[in-house]
Amino acid sequence: MVLDPICLMEVDEKCARFKTVYNGQTFYFCDKGCKQKFEEEPEKYIDIEEREEK
Ligand SMILES: [Zn+2]
Repeated sequence: MVLDPICLMEVDEKCARFKTVYNGQTFYFCDKGCKQKFEEEPEKYIDIEEREEK
């Protein structure tokens, strides 16, 4: 299971219908709305990972 970065719900990556690749990483979403939100402002939702690099 992976986390939907938008609503933090668990998504089964094996049957996830909504996913997108950003920065070489695949993100999975519970629905089309979450995917759309992520694609509009991906940086807003992945800033946790940027912080780890610092
Ligand atoms: Zn979601």
